[in-house]
Amino acid sequence: MTTHRISLTELERGTPFEYRHVGPDHEAQAKMLAHIGFGSLDELTATAVPDVIKSAEALGLPQARTEAEVLQELRGLADRNQVLASMIGLGYYGTFTPPVILRNVMENPAWYTAYTPYQPEISQGRLEALLNFQTMVAELTGLPTSGASLLDEGTAAAEAMALSRRVGKVKQGVFLVDADCLPQTIAVIETRAEPTGVEVVVADLSEGIPAEIAERGVFGVLLQYPGASGAVRDPRALIERAHELGAVVTVAADLLALTLLTSPGELGADIAVGTTQRFGVPMGFGGPHAGFMAVREPFARSLPGRLVGVSVDADGQKAYRLALQTREQHIRREKATSNICTAQVLLAVMAGMYAVYHGPEGLRTIARRTHRYAGILAEGLRAGGVELVHGAYFDTLTARVPGRAAEVVAAAREAGINLRQVDADLVGIACDETTGRAQLTGVWAAFGVQADIEKLDATTDETLPQSLLRTDDYLTHPVFHEHRSETAMLRYLRTLADKDYALDRGMIPLGSCTMKLNATTEMEPVTWPAFGQLHPFAPADQAQGYLTLIQELEERLATVTGYDKVSIQPNAGSQGELAGLLAVRAYHRANGDEQRTVCLIPSSAHGTNAASAVMAGMKVVVVKTGEDGEVDADDLHAKIEKHRDELAVLMVTYPSTHGVFEEHITQICAAVHDAGGQVYVDGANLNALVGLAEPGKFGGDVSHLNLHKTFCIPHGGGGPGVGPVAVRAHLAPYLPNHPLQPTAGPETGVGPISAAPWGSAGILPISWAYVRLMGGEGLKRATQVAVLSANYIAKRLEPHYPVLYTGPGGLVAHECIIDVRPLTKATGVSIDDVAKRLIDYGFHAPTMSFPVAGTLMIEPTESEDLAELDRFCDAMIAIRAEIEKVGTGEWDKDDNPLRNAPHTAGALGGEWSHPYSREEAVFPAGVVAAEKYWPPVRRIDGAFGDRNLVCSCPPLDAYDG
Ligand SMILES: *Cc1c(COP(=O)(O)O)cnc(C)c1O
Repeated sequence: MTTHRISLTELERGTPFEYRHVGPDHEAQAKMLAHIGFGSLDELTATAVPDVIKSAEALGLPQARTEAEVLQELRGLADRNQVLASMIGLGYYGTFTPPVILRNVMENPAWYTAYTPYQPEISQGRLEALLNFQTMVAELTGLPTSGASLLDEGTAAAEAMALSRRVGKVKQGVFLVDADCLPQTIAVIETRAEPTGVEVVVADLSEGIPAEIAERGVFGVLLQYPGASGAVRDPRALIERAHELGAVVTVAADLLALTLLTSPGELGADIAVGTTQRFGVPMGFGGPHAGFMAVREPFARSLPGRLVGVSVDADGQKAYRLALQTREQHIRREKATSNICTAQVLLAVMAGMYAVYHGPEGLRTIARRTHRYAGILAEGLRAGGVELVHGAYFDTLTARVPGRAAEVVAAAREAGINLRQVDADLVGIACDETTGRAQLTGVWAAFGVQADIEKLDATTDETLPQSLLRTDDYLTHPVFHEHRSETAMLRYLRTLADKDYALDRGMIPLGSCTMKLNATTEMEPVTWPAFGQLHPFAPADQAQGYLTLIQELEERLATVTGYDKVSIQPNAGSQGELAGLLAVRAYHRANGDEQRTVCLIPSSAHGTNAASAVMAGMKVVVVKTGEDGEVDADDLHAKIEKHRDELAVLMVTYPSTHGVFEEHITQICAAVHDAGGQVYVDGANLNALVGLAEPGKFGGDVSHLNLHKTFCIPHGGGGPGVGPVAVRAHLAPYLPNHPLQPTAGPETGVGPISAAPWGSAGILPISWAYVRLMGGEGLKRATQVAVLSANYIAKRLEPHYPVLYTGPGGLVAHECIIDVRPLTKATGVSIDDVAKRLIDYGFHAPTMSFPVAGTLMIEPTESEDLAELDRFCDAMIAIRAEIEKVGTGEWDKDDNPLRNAPHTAGALGGEWSHPYSREEAVFPAGVVAAEKYWPPVRRIDGAFGDRNLVCSCPPLDAYDG
């Protein structure tokens, strides 16, 4: 045999991961290039990307590694994390994720690759799951309306502060925080309060509200229930007094404790916030977990974040969709209730399912077990002569050991247990669902105490105060009772997942959202215990693997973006924006330029930009967008002139939100710098730049990235995300830091943006793995193919729909906007009709009406192969022909497949009265019957649901119809 000799090294390399990640192979790329008239990827991007911004050199990143190698490296990192039994508490607890939920939600692409449910007809599964979450939170907190998740407990409390100020009667005065709140919550609140001019007063409220504070006026009060120390106090009198002062009262509550304790709603609270982490979501060194907020009825329409509600579809059937979206930053911009966009949907689904699986009695058993462990532990300590600070507690004790706290904590660590050293004299000990007998013995030994669990069990009673025992029913809805067996649970999860369209079914061509491959190799480490079971405040020497991974990721993201320093703490893009703007603010103030508060934002910007600017204490001035989609240069210069002395920053997205490489970006940056302003480059579109251009080099001072867009963290149906903030050196002293982990940021930093020092650390292995698997060259080719695919689609669709904006060489960047407005005008077929008709063709619609109303923004990403790109283009072209039939009158204006889309299987039964056939309705061109995706509901009436706001599981009789 005379085969060519291949070296072992080459054979070992196997198929490079790049070929798994990038959809179109060489042959397909060649075809696509030919279609748009280019000879190579390099030639294409040399034309598309303006010379002034092009990177001079290749990315200085380590060579690509194979999937096997990267998994091995990650195992090595995991081995350098030490998992001790965590009894640190402070809002993070050990929890047992039911494997049926772990495998069928957290590790299931049907759930984790889904998009935010903006197209509700193809999102009924996750919307129902979120409604379960809302119902669970609302009932446990005793408040009627809960949102569909916030980013974490600290930011939820900060949002409650903002809400209190917005809706409360008292407009002046202070925000009063009880000293027994979680320290990280207090710190996040202080970060958020300062720029908006809110004064936060932290005081011990156990004896009531001090008179001198009451005199100053109080617009809001925050209590922790149970307290950070573990103390369970009856807050009724305090709440009553706060209400007398006109304050809005927020109770930060522990959901597990609430299964036994009187709910905040019943105690009189107006708002409840917290985290659902201990409902089956691994600690993950700090996140991601779903924060929550529930409110009294009058506040429902002012809730921050997303809210799922019940409405009806075209047949009058019950259907879910996001409610009251008009409150959101997409529409309200600087007047929005919050900047939250990406939240924590996947984790909210998990927590909700934990309650579905356990039901109220199962949750109560877990709570009682946890409480009993704490009780036995307490009795043993007391019998051994250790003083406990509180008599009433749920799961957490504070022990007083004068001068010996460090010694006790060290002894426990020797025994494999992390306790919390509060100060030199106090030790905190938290029990949870995973606490076991050996742990109690270990803790006693660390205190120098010996005790007998059996004996104590026989004599220890529950110690919750009688006046606070919960007496009402909760989680009475059938969904919390019907899925007790694993078979039932498995099938429920499958039924919901099957209703939804996620990346595991087909392409989700959402402009600005970058729905690319979330590779299994990238996902695997996330659920390894050595990454999942670390407490965020565990000592650094137990987290060496994590800290190495975080440092490497931060450095590599700095390399990719051309900035000097990166913080991965912000847990969504919106939070990265806030962090970046706070850095700008601090920088100006350090230079004595306190008056620099104007933030210029182009009218086409993402809604989070304006909302974040307001939260950073800035004044938003809108800059016009020109006909060509670029920032209107004249208007920009005029506004820079007008606000020269107050100019803080320009926020600009690059490539622009119109999907175009603006050629004047460097001039724009220079003009802002000349006026003494800073340039914030919104990095959500970094998928068009990686390896080709670096915002930190072409004029940006600061950017946020969205790791859940460009760097492969899955969208999870609307979260989690990670929104690192990247800055040039002069802003680095003002990055986020953390009071409980000094190494998490600069001493001079602006304070924490997230509750956890490294934000959603648990999902960082995904982005780390992506960069490692691709290497610098691979990342660059991914960008080039993303640009190729967008231009291929633009070229194919151009004869049928006008492509709104193009840049150099008549090319688009990584996405393109097609204009449906002329067709709507001529035929009455709306953008909604097109989006919903795409469902009949088996697609998720592109981004609708952003940044231009009446248009569709298509972003294919590099991961979709040519066959899928063509299937999409063919569907769009077929829809164009359908629109024509409406235009010519061949199809009725109001009764046609577009207007009636999407069509369900249910709609086929019975009488068919439409002037088009059943086949035309559900099997249009290119749709194979055997592979058909069937939407579960017809078009949903959003306005109906907003008028009749229902945001928890509908009552039983709703199921009869
Ligand atoms: C997605 C996006 C954001 C916000 O990011 P989140 O992670 O959703 O908070 C900001 N700007 C642009 C242009 C975006 O596309």
